[in-house]
Amino acid sequence: MSPIRQNLQAITTTIVAAAQESGRPATAVQLLAVSKTFGPEAVLEAVAAGQRAFGENYLQEGLDKIRAVQEAGAPALEWHFIGPIQSNKTRPIAEHFAWVHTVEREKIAQRLSEQRPSGMAPLQICLQVNISGEASKSGVAPEELAALAHKVAALPNLTLRGLMAIPEPADDFDQQRAAFAQLRTLYEQLRADGLALDTLSMGMSADMRAAIVEGATIVRVGSAIFGARNYDKA
Ligand SMILES: *Cc1c(COP(=O)(O)O)cnc(C)c1O
Repeated sequence: MSPIRQNLQAITTTIVAAAQESGRPATAVQLLAVSKTFGPEAVLEAVAAGQRAFGENYLQEGLDKIRAVQEAGAPALEWHFIGPIQSNKTRPIAEHFAWVHTVEREKIAQRLSEQRPSGMAPLQICLQVNISGEASKSGVAPEELAALAHKVAALPNLTLRGLMAIPEPADDFDQQRAAFAQLRTLYEQLRADGLALDTLSMGMSADMRAAIVEGATIVRVGSAIFGARNYDKA
């Protein structure tokens, strides 16, 4: 069996167990395979094992990979953009991705909505929240989240689905859970406030179990599927 297929099976087992711990069916948690720095052949291997949703961080690399995988005859895949967004690079994101997890400013959301081609389904959006509060980290501050969420929810060619965060790495399970619980609380506040959200994008290779126990509906997993990343090659 290919290592990618084997890794996907092991992660699925983890997801099923953690979802059960959170009192939810395994189908409540979607696995997003983060393929950044890996080539189209790695994506095709995951596709052969049944994976359909992929996440990319770097725009040009992602666009090249989407094209290469299509040309190789892959079935329809769901591509998620999960990297930092420059305002002059929104158009290809709006044209080639189904989801964007890293919206943190109104201006970017407006551009994505304006540039979403009219024949396509609305672009599915998560707002990235800075839950660790460091100045250097990306994401909207929790105090500014509600105002941004209501503005983004009103844009015509976007569907606001939920929240995303990348907490500080922590080795301790309870510490991991505490960070994800903060994001879940913000999400529940927005829902109580009338926004129809259904997505919590949280958890990566090292902390996906804690994220699922705290209610993650999408886990973004890279190295546990594809192996260690080599940034020189990217
Ligand atoms: C790289 C990346 C991931 C995957 O990280 P792993 O630790 O390899 O699972 C998830 N989310 C984002 C935003 C990333 O940049």
